[in-house]
Amino acid sequence: MPEILKPTLQQKLEERLRYYENLGIDLFYRNRLASEHAPPADPPAATVELPRVAPVAQGPVSKAQAPAAGKTAPHVEGVFRPSGPSLFEAVDKVHDDSLLKIQQDIGPDCARCKLHKQRNRIVFGDGSPNAKLAFVSEGPSADEDAQGLPFVGRAGKLLTQMIEAMGLQRGDVYICNVVKCRPPENRAPEPDEVAECSPYLLRQIDVINPRVIVCLGAVAAKTLLNTTRGISSFRGEWLDWRGRKLMATYHPAYLLRNPPAKADVWKDLQKVMAELGLQLPKKKSS
Ligand code: SF4
Repeated sequence: MPEILKPTLQQKLEERLRYYENLGIDLFYRNRLASEHAPPADPPAATVELPRVAPVAQGPVSKAQAPAAGKTAPHVEGVFRPSGPSLFEAVDKVHDDSLLKIQQDIGPDCARCKLHKQRNRIVFGDGSPNAKLAFVSEGPSADEDAQGLPFVGRAGKLLTQMIEAMGLQRGDVYICNVVKCRPPENRAPEPDEVAECSPYLLRQIDVINPRVIVCLGAVAAKTLLNTTRGISSFRGEWLDWRGRKLMATYHPAYLLRNPPAKADVWKDLQKVMAELGLQLPKKKSS
Protein backbone atom coordinates (compact mmCIF):
# COMPACT_ATOMS: atom_id res chain seq x y z
CA MET A 1 0.00 0.00 0.00
CA PRO A 2 1.53 3.35 -0.93
CA GLU A 3 2.63 5.40 2.07
CA ILE A 4 1.74 9.05 2.29
CA LEU A 5 4.44 11.17 3.94
CA LYS A 6 3.68 14.24 5.95
CA PRO A 7 4.56 17.35 3.88
CA THR A 8 7.23 18.43 6.39
CA LEU A 9 8.88 15.02 6.34
CA GLN A 10 8.70 14.87 2.57
CA GLN A 11 10.33 18.30 2.34
CA LYS A 12 13.08 17.22 4.72
CA LEU A 13 13.70 14.09 2.70
CA GLU A 14 13.84 16.06 -0.53
CA GLU A 15 16.35 18.50 0.96
CA ARG A 16 18.50 15.67 2.22
CA LEU A 17 18.40 13.86 -1.14
CA ARG A 18 19.32 17.07 -2.94
CA TYR A 19 22.25 17.44 -0.57
CA TYR A 20 23.50 13.94 -1.42
CA GLU A 21 22.93 14.52 -5.14
CA ASN A 22 24.97 17.70 -4.98
CA LEU A 23 27.80 15.61 -3.61
CA GLY A 24 27.50 13.24 -6.55
CA ILE A 25 25.64 10.46 -4.71
CA ASP A 26 22.62 9.53 -6.75
CA LEU A 27 22.02 5.88 -5.89
CA PHE A 28 19.69 5.25 -2.93
CA TYR A 29 17.78 2.32 -1.54
CA ARG A 30 15.35 1.93 1.28
CA ASN A 31 14.51 -0.99 3.53
CA ARG A 32 10.81 -1.46 2.79
CA LEU A 33 10.29 -4.10 5.52
CA ALA A 34 11.83 -1.88 8.18
CA SER A 35 9.53 0.96 7.27
CA GLU A 36 6.48 -1.28 7.58
CA HIS A 37 7.22 -1.88 11.25
CA ALA A 38 8.51 1.48 12.26
CA PRO A 39 7.10 4.97 12.14
CA PRO A 40 8.61 7.27 9.53
CA ALA A 41 11.62 9.12 10.81
CA ASP A 42 14.20 11.60 9.62
CA PRO A 43 16.98 10.02 7.54
CA PRO A 44 19.74 8.91 9.89
CA ALA A 45 22.83 11.05 10.15
CA ALA A 46 25.76 9.06 8.83
CA THR A 47 28.86 8.66 10.94
CA VAL A 48 31.36 11.30 9.99
CA GLU A 49 34.90 10.03 9.50
CA LEU A 50 37.30 12.89 9.10
CA PRO A 51 40.98 12.56 8.37
CA ARG A 52 43.68 11.62 10.75
CA VAL A 53 46.60 13.93 11.28
CA ALA A 54 50.05 12.46 11.00
CA PRO A 55 53.30 14.37 11.20
CA VAL A 56 55.49 13.39 8.27
CA ALA A 57 59.17 13.61 7.56
CA GLN A 58 60.61 16.08 5.08
CA GLY A 59 61.02 14.81 1.53
CA PRO A 60 59.05 14.31 -1.65
CA VAL A 61 55.48 13.19 -1.21
CA SER A 62 53.77 10.50 -3.22
CA LYS A 63 50.31 9.01 -3.29
CA ALA A 64 51.85 5.82 -1.91
CA GLN A 65 52.51 7.73 1.30
CA ALA A 66 48.81 8.04 2.00
CA PRO A 67 48.19 6.92 5.58
CA ALA A 68 46.92 3.38 6.01
CA ALA A 69 43.78 3.16 8.10
CA GLY A 70 44.54 2.71 11.77
CA LYS A 71 48.31 3.14 11.30
CA THR A 72 48.68 6.86 11.67
CA ALA A 73 49.75 9.08 14.51
CA PRO A 74 47.29 9.72 17.33
CA HIS A 75 43.94 10.95 16.09
CA VAL A 76 43.18 14.54 16.95
CA GLU A 77 39.66 14.96 18.22
CA GLY A 78 37.41 16.76 15.79
CA VAL A 79 35.60 20.04 16.17
CA PHE A 80 33.29 20.03 13.16
CA ARG A 81 30.73 17.27 13.11
CA PRO A 82 28.50 17.84 10.09
CA SER A 83 25.26 15.89 9.98
CA GLY A 84 25.73 14.62 6.41
CA PRO A 85 27.72 11.65 5.18
CA SER A 86 31.49 11.43 5.45
CA LEU A 87 32.69 14.44 3.53
CA PHE A 88 35.78 12.69 2.33
CA GLU A 89 33.96 9.57 1.22
CA ALA A 90 31.40 11.70 -0.60
CA VAL A 91 34.13 13.59 -2.42
CA ASP A 92 35.60 10.33 -3.68
CA LYS A 93 32.28 9.41 -5.28
CA VAL A 94 32.26 12.36 -7.69
CA HIS A 95 33.49 10.93 -10.96
CA ASP A 96 34.98 13.01 -13.76
CA ASP A 97 34.89 15.99 -11.47
CA SER A 98 36.08 19.38 -12.62
CA LEU A 99 36.20 22.92 -11.28
CA LEU A 100 33.40 23.83 -13.70
CA LYS A 101 31.23 20.99 -12.44
CA ILE A 102 31.82 22.00 -8.83
CA GLN A 103 30.94 25.60 -9.65
CA GLN A 104 27.80 24.44 -11.41
CA ASP A 105 26.88 22.27 -8.44
CA ILE A 106 27.19 25.24 -6.10
CA GLY A 107 25.06 27.23 -8.50
CA PRO A 108 24.74 31.00 -8.90
CA ASP A 109 22.24 31.43 -6.05
CA CYS A 110 23.38 28.88 -3.47
CA ALA A 111 21.33 29.16 -0.29
CA ARG A 112 22.46 25.98 1.42
CA CYS A 113 23.60 27.88 4.49
CA LYS A 114 22.70 31.15 6.15
CA LEU A 115 25.75 32.95 4.73
CA HIS A 116 23.82 33.45 1.50
CA LYS A 117 21.63 36.11 3.15
CA GLN A 118 24.21 38.89 3.24
CA ARG A 119 26.66 37.96 0.51
CA ASN A 120 27.06 39.86 -2.72
CA ARG A 121 29.19 37.40 -4.68
CA ILE A 122 30.07 33.75 -4.24
CA VAL A 123 33.87 33.55 -4.13
CA PHE A 124 34.68 30.20 -5.70
CA GLY A 125 38.47 30.26 -5.97
CA ASP A 126 41.20 31.53 -8.23
CA GLY A 127 44.41 30.37 -9.82
CA SER A 128 45.94 27.56 -11.82
CA PRO A 129 43.92 24.33 -12.16
CA ASN A 130 47.30 22.55 -12.32
CA ALA A 131 48.81 24.24 -9.28
CA LYS A 132 51.35 22.31 -7.23
CA LEU A 133 50.61 24.61 -4.31
CA ALA A 134 47.18 25.50 -2.95
CA PHE A 135 46.40 28.05 -0.28
CA VAL A 136 43.22 27.48 1.70
CA SER A 137 41.76 30.22 3.84
CA GLU A 138 38.56 30.58 5.85
CA GLY A 139 36.20 32.82 3.89
CA PRO A 140 35.85 35.96 1.80
CA SER A 141 36.29 39.43 3.27
CA ALA A 142 34.40 42.55 2.19
CA ASP A 143 36.66 43.25 -0.81
CA GLU A 144 36.43 39.67 -1.97
CA ASP A 145 32.67 39.62 -1.51
CA ALA A 146 32.46 42.72 -3.71
CA GLN A 147 34.77 41.41 -6.45
CA GLY A 148 34.03 37.69 -6.35
CA LEU A 149 37.74 36.85 -6.08
CA PRO A 150 39.74 35.54 -3.11
CA PHE A 151 42.43 37.64 -1.43
CA VAL A 152 42.06 40.95 -3.19
CA GLY A 153 42.12 43.31 -0.18
CA ARG A 154 45.05 44.33 2.03
CA ALA A 155 45.55 40.78 3.22
CA GLY A 156 45.40 39.68 -0.41
CA LYS A 157 48.14 42.12 -1.35
CA LEU A 158 50.31 40.70 1.40
CA LEU A 159 49.60 37.13 0.25
CA THR A 160 50.56 38.11 -3.30
CA GLN A 161 53.85 39.55 -1.98
CA MET A 162 54.49 36.34 -0.08
CA ILE A 163 53.82 34.24 -3.19
CA GLU A 164 56.16 36.42 -5.26
CA ALA A 165 58.83 36.20 -2.56
CA MET A 166 58.69 32.44 -3.08
CA GLY A 167 59.55 32.94 -6.75
CA LEU A 168 56.01 32.29 -7.96
CA GLN A 169 53.22 34.36 -9.45
CA ARG A 170 49.67 34.34 -8.15
CA GLY A 171 48.56 32.57 -11.29
CA ASP A 172 50.91 29.66 -10.49
CA VAL A 173 49.03 28.69 -7.31
CA TYR A 174 45.40 28.04 -6.44
CA ILE A 175 43.63 30.03 -3.72
CA CYS A 176 40.30 29.11 -2.20
CA ASN A 177 38.28 29.28 0.99
CA VAL A 178 36.46 26.91 3.30
CA VAL A 179 33.21 28.87 2.85
CA LYS A 180 32.46 30.64 -0.40
CA CYS A 181 30.33 33.44 1.04
CA ARG A 182 31.39 36.19 3.39
CA PRO A 183 30.53 35.69 7.05
CA PRO A 184 28.96 38.91 8.43
CA GLU A 185 31.35 41.26 10.23
CA ASN A 186 34.19 38.98 9.13
CA ARG A 187 33.36 36.53 11.91
CA ALA A 188 34.66 32.98 11.66
CA PRO A 189 32.35 30.64 9.77
CA GLU A 190 30.16 28.56 12.06
CA PRO A 191 30.27 24.75 12.09
CA ASP A 192 26.97 24.35 10.22
CA GLU A 193 28.21 26.72 7.48
CA VAL A 194 31.51 24.86 7.25
CA ALA A 195 29.65 21.55 7.06
CA GLU A 196 27.51 22.77 4.15
CA CYS A 197 30.25 24.40 2.11
CA SER A 198 33.41 22.39 2.80
CA PRO A 199 32.47 19.46 0.49
CA TYR A 200 33.02 21.86 -2.41
CA LEU A 201 36.44 22.79 -1.05
CA LEU A 202 37.36 19.14 -0.75
CA ARG A 203 36.29 18.51 -4.33
CA GLN A 204 38.33 21.53 -5.47
CA ILE A 205 41.42 20.13 -3.77
CA ASP A 206 40.89 16.72 -5.30
CA VAL A 207 40.51 18.23 -8.78
CA ILE A 208 43.55 20.53 -8.44
CA ASN A 209 45.54 17.74 -6.76
CA PRO A 210 48.29 19.99 -5.39
CA ARG A 211 51.45 18.49 -3.93
CA VAL A 212 51.36 20.94 -1.05
CA ILE A 213 48.47 22.61 0.76
CA VAL A 214 49.07 25.62 2.96
CA CYS A 215 46.25 26.43 5.37
CA LEU A 216 46.08 30.12 6.12
CA GLY A 217 44.75 30.48 9.64
CA ALA A 218 43.02 28.31 12.18
CA VAL A 219 39.66 27.79 10.47
CA ALA A 220 41.16 26.28 7.32
CA ALA A 221 43.53 24.11 9.35
CA LYS A 222 40.82 22.93 11.74
CA THR A 223 38.47 22.14 8.89
CA LEU A 224 40.93 20.06 6.91
CA LEU A 225 42.59 18.44 9.90
CA ASN A 226 39.47 18.07 12.01
CA THR A 227 41.26 19.24 15.10
CA THR A 228 40.49 21.43 18.09
CA ARG A 229 44.17 22.14 18.72
CA GLY A 230 45.30 25.74 18.47
CA ILE A 231 47.15 26.48 15.24
CA SER A 232 50.29 27.57 17.07
CA SER A 233 50.76 23.99 18.34
CA PHE A 234 51.25 22.61 14.82
CA ARG A 235 52.05 25.70 12.72
CA GLY A 236 55.02 25.14 10.46
CA GLU A 237 54.95 21.34 10.82
CA TRP A 238 54.52 19.06 7.83
CA LEU A 239 51.36 17.01 8.20
CA ASP A 240 50.01 14.28 5.97
CA TRP A 241 46.59 14.97 4.53
CA ARG A 242 45.21 12.29 2.25
CA GLY A 243 48.64 11.59 0.78
CA ARG A 244 49.51 15.23 0.35
CA LYS A 245 51.73 17.46 2.41
CA LEU A 246 49.92 20.07 4.41
CA MET A 247 51.25 22.92 6.49
CA ALA A 248 49.31 25.43 8.53
CA THR A 249 50.55 28.95 8.97
CA TYR A 250 49.16 32.29 10.08
CA HIS A 251 46.58 34.16 8.03
CA PRO A 252 47.86 37.30 6.22
CA ALA A 253 45.19 39.36 8.04
CA TYR A 254 46.80 38.28 11.33
CA LEU A 255 50.19 39.36 9.98
CA LEU A 256 48.78 42.82 9.25
CA ARG A 257 47.87 43.09 12.93
CA ASN A 258 51.04 41.36 14.17
CA PRO A 259 53.92 42.15 11.79
CA PRO A 260 56.54 40.31 13.92
CA ALA A 261 54.78 37.04 13.06
CA LYS A 262 55.81 37.54 9.42
CA ALA A 263 59.18 35.99 10.28
CA ASP A 264 57.48 32.75 11.39
CA VAL A 265 55.40 32.63 8.22
CA TRP A 266 58.44 33.23 6.04
CA LYS A 267 60.19 30.30 7.75
CA ASP A 268 57.15 28.15 6.96
CA LEU A 269 57.06 29.26 3.34
CA GLN A 270 60.77 28.49 2.96
CA LYS A 271 59.97 24.89 3.96
CA VAL A 272 57.28 24.88 1.27
CA MET A 273 59.80 26.22 -1.24
CA ALA A 274 62.26 23.47 -0.33
CA GLU A 275 59.54 20.85 -0.76
CA LEU A 276 58.61 22.20 -4.19
CA GLY A 277 62.23 22.72 -5.26
CA LEU A 278 61.81 26.48 -5.55
CA GLN A 279 64.79 28.84 -5.42
CA LEU A 280 64.77 32.31 -3.94
CA PRO A 281 64.33 34.80 -6.81
CA LYS A 282 67.61 36.47 -7.79
CA LYS A 283 67.89 40.12 -6.79
CA LYS A 284 68.01 42.47 -9.76
CA SER A 285 71.48 43.96 -10.18
CA SER A 286 71.54 47.74 -10.14
S1 SF4 B 1 28.80 29.56 2.03
FE1 SF4 B 1 28.75 27.84 0.58
S2 SF4 B 1 26.99 26.59 1.19
FE2 SF4 B 1 26.76 28.60 2.18
S3 SF4 B 1 25.48 29.76 0.77
FE3 SF4 B 1 27.62 30.22 0.24
S4 SF4 B 1 28.19 28.77 -1.39
FE4 SF4 B 1 26.28 28.02 -0.41
